[in-house]
Amino acid sequence: MTKHDLVVRNGTLVIPGIGSVAADVAMADGKIVALGKNLVGDEVYDASGKIVLPGIFDPHVHIGNEMSFEEEAESETRAAVLGGVTTIGIFIRSLEDSYFKHLPSFRAAMDQRAYVDSIFHPQLFTDQQIDEIPGYTREYGIRSYKFYMSGMPGIVKSVSDDVLLRGFQNVASIGADAVACVHCETGYLVARARAELTVNKPQGTLADWESAHPADAEALAIRTAAYLAKVAGVHLYVVHVSSQQGIAAVKLARADGTWLTAETITPFLGISSDDVNGFLAKMVPPVRSPEHRAALWQAVRDGTLDTVGTDNTSRRRASKNPQGGLHGARPGHPSLGTHLPVLLHHGRLQGIPLERLVDMATRKPAQTYGLYPHKGTIAPGSDADLVVVDHDLERVVRPAELRGMSDFSPFEGKTLRGWPVATIKGGRIVARDGEIIAPPSGRYLPRTAP
Ligand SMILES: [Zn+2]
Repeated sequence: MTKHDLVVRNGTLVIPGIGSVAADVAMADGKIVALGKNLVGDEVYDASGKIVLPGIFDPHVHIGNEMSFEEEAESETRAAVLGGVTTIGIFIRSLEDSYFKHLPSFRAAMDQRAYVDSIFHPQLFTDQQIDEIPGYTREYGIRSYKFYMSGMPGIVKSVSDDVLLRGFQNVASIGADAVACVHCETGYLVARARAELTVNKPQGTLADWESAHPADAEALAIRTAAYLAKVAGVHLYVVHVSSQQGIAAVKLARADGTWLTAETITPFLGISSDDVNGFLAKMVPPVRSPEHRAALWQAVRDGTLDTVGTDNTSRRRASKNPQGGLHGARPGHPSLGTHLPVLLHHGRLQGIPLERLVDMATRKPAQTYGLYPHKGTIAPGSDADLVVVDHDLERVVRPAELRGMSDFSPFEGKTLRGWPVATIKGGRIVARDGEIIAPPSGRYLPRTAP
């Protein structure tokens, strides 16, 4: 009988596309090598009564917004891996410079300090950056890029439709697998809405923030992006769909023949704008009313939404400044550590099959970004990244226990049911019972043409 490095015994595997299977998983040299019964290993983890999922792949993460990229590469991926996330897609940012100037240090940080594997989606703002797409692809294996149709005042600029089209064409030129990610909001509608809100509501609640970013601005931008993506022949990935109108626009674009993948995020699935945590949940796009949240869950249920991420943008409470109110609190919050528990807790309340939730959080992003079946499944030959979950464990969200750099969470004080109890990355147990037990072992993953 072959002896393996690590065996996870007696769990119920949830394998996207296959279903729930009672089986042991054996791992060696960082890969899954066998599924079966009574497998033996040097180290055995008893997962009796637990479910075992592929490591979670969060395709939508921001790193280095508050501390340095290097510091957050460590602190935020520590929170991620503790929460069952083993791969992340990072929207790296350089507002002016060529990415050739920054990619070496971004990559080194993820190779040396991160607890999770990573891919990069550079955010493109300048003509030079757009011209250099084939070079980034050739030298760094980057096959996904992001565009902001509506920027954020003081944070990122918007790109106009002509720049968007040229960007799409250059992304399409690198191969059929390439992905153009777009923050879809129509800038003029947002700018007017924000200006009106400043005048009409100098003070307000989180619910008022929704009107600063109208759902119609999202829907119109999705339709524009879809039109241009079809012209360019590029695979369009709509990040953080937030509204009923946005969902409708996704359906229309698909009916029109656009190749479109739609993402939502766990803050939108777990929080609505009447939330007791108020401005701790302020972000762009905004968390919306319970009606929009219900529409997102319906789109999870019927398959309109494909993937789920976080839009993690970690901050400290002091710089988040929730007491600054409607206009003074800063957008962005940490959500890597709560990603999986929020999905499991609210998914169960909504009656969504577990396999559907797991598919959106693992296989679908891995397929979209060219990492499947290394990531996103449990099968011989795949990377040995797993998360063992106690589906009935209830815990109150306490920011300090999430182990990121943030001293708050938009979910703080809430009881969630369904938490990871162990995370296995590269065939080693790296987190167990809420503690990190191994040093960082994440790698940046260059992608090759299929
Ligand atoms: Zn984002």
